[in-house]
Amino acid sequence: MSRVDTIVIGGGIVGLSCAYFLSLRGQKVLLIERDTFDTGASVGNAGLVAFGHAPMPRPGAIRQSFKMFLDPLNPLYVKPRLDLSMLRWFLDFKKACDPEPFARSMKILSELGFEAKQCFEQIVSNEMVNGEYRKTGWIDLCLSEERLEQAFEEADLVSSHGYKVDKLTGDEIRANDPSILDEIVGGTHYTQSVILDPGRFTTEFAACLRDRGVRTRTQIDIKKILTKDGKVVGVRTAGAETLEADNVVLAAGIWSTKLAQTVGLNLPMQAGKGYHVNLSAPNPLPRFGYVCAEAFVAATPMNGNLRLAGTIEFSGINDTMNTRRLNMLQAGARKYFKGIGTCQSLSTWNGLRPCTADGLPIVGESSQVQGLFVATGHAMMGFTLGPVTGKLISECIVDGKPSMDISALSPDRYTP
Ligand SMILES: Cc1cc2nc3c(=O)[nH]c(=O)nc-3n(C[C@H](O)[C@H](O)[C@H](O)COP(=O)(O)OP(=O)(O)OC[C@H]3O[C@@H](n4cnc5c(N)ncnc54)[C@H](O)[C@@H]3O)c2cc1C
Repeated sequence: MSRVDTIVIGGGIVGLSCAYFLSLRGQKVLLIERDTFDTGASVGNAGLVAFGHAPMPRPGAIRQSFKMFLDPLNPLYVKPRLDLSMLRWFLDFKKACDPEPFARSMKILSELGFEAKQCFEQIVSNEMVNGEYRKTGWIDLCLSEERLEQAFEEADLVSSHGYKVDKLTGDEIRANDPSILDEIVGGTHYTQSVILDPGRFTTEFAACLRDRGVRTRTQIDIKKILTKDGKVVGVRTAGAETLEADNVVLAAGIWSTKLAQTVGLNLPMQAGKGYHVNLSAPNPLPRFGYVCAEAFVAATPMNGNLRLAGTIEFSGINDTMNTRRLNMLQAGARKYFKGIGTCQSLSTWNGLRPCTADGLPIVGESSQVQGLFVATGHAMMGFTLGPVTGKLISECIVDGKPSMDISALSPDRYTP
């Protein structure tokens, strides 16, 4: 195989997007995936492309923590274990919940959100990648007045960053969607967001990359990033094959931490496991994307059926299916939508969100290793921010600097 300019490790939405934007800029790219393009967090997620969404660490989030440790059926659950890196991560997470860092994160994430929208529009309209892309927005649905008040506060915050969010009563929501139960008191509609089928989107996107001349290899496990005199020279596979390139983009989701260690780079992240169940269509089928606010369950119409997705479990890197947590999805959603109790479960899944403690993705070149570009850590918003991350990485590599200030996302923030 002839030498390429850039090797991208990881075929999730972030890696696909990096390969896409690099190929648009004339780079010869090799995209390497350990499995196939239809596995991983990017395929099974909730399909809410939520531009301008707030980060996970936010004022008030830490108040939940005591409850989290005690209750394995809380939407947010931390499996008690002796793990120093986990403890450090939580202390940093706690700091990031303070109003000042939260305001800084919100500013950069909302700026990224506008760019992210442009990138999606570009991919959908120029490449005929569709994946059931629908401009319905998504609605945060509330059962209690107390939670609705919080949802309105969050809507004000997101609106203050330039996004359009409608505050709705329960009757207003039901007038547009008969699937919503009478118990719903209201919600907030993020009208500029989009819903899609992430599995179809990534499959179509991977096919588009091959048509564009991006070389792709699946079932190849990268074991090591190779360097010489502080500069990237390629990667080594599990089959002891050496693949050479001038640049390497590390977009391997939660597994990026381990690969970064092969060049002495620290990328501290925790795996935030989430579940989905695809249900046969309830009658009536919900018309929009939703988040059931109190239950922390997303509900998205997909392929004529309904996907319920959610919960966050910090139990390390594993794919163990905890059926009690999986069952929380349907149990939670039946309080919000008609007909959920009688739907059949068509398939179930779990996947790992790559979560940083400060709630910001890690995007940019490492100053420790020349030619190593990091693109990971997007936590709950990886599908939304995948394409814009790809664009920014392509600018870092081709132009030597990104078109917007992303210094807050630099991998160097973990360098002592
Ligand atoms: C239940 C759930 C619901 C979610 N809902 C949403 C949502 O509605 N909207 C949203 O924006 N985000 C959502 N997310 C988050 C989103 O799915 C992730 O942030 C995003 O998919 C991360 O993308 P990624 O490309 O970084 O990682 P991944 O999708 O995990 O891809 C990384 C890829 O790298 C490959 N890889 C790993 N190691 C190696 C190696 N050594 N060699 C080669 N390949 C390797 C893996 O096989 C994998 O395919 C959700 C996540 C979950 C779990």
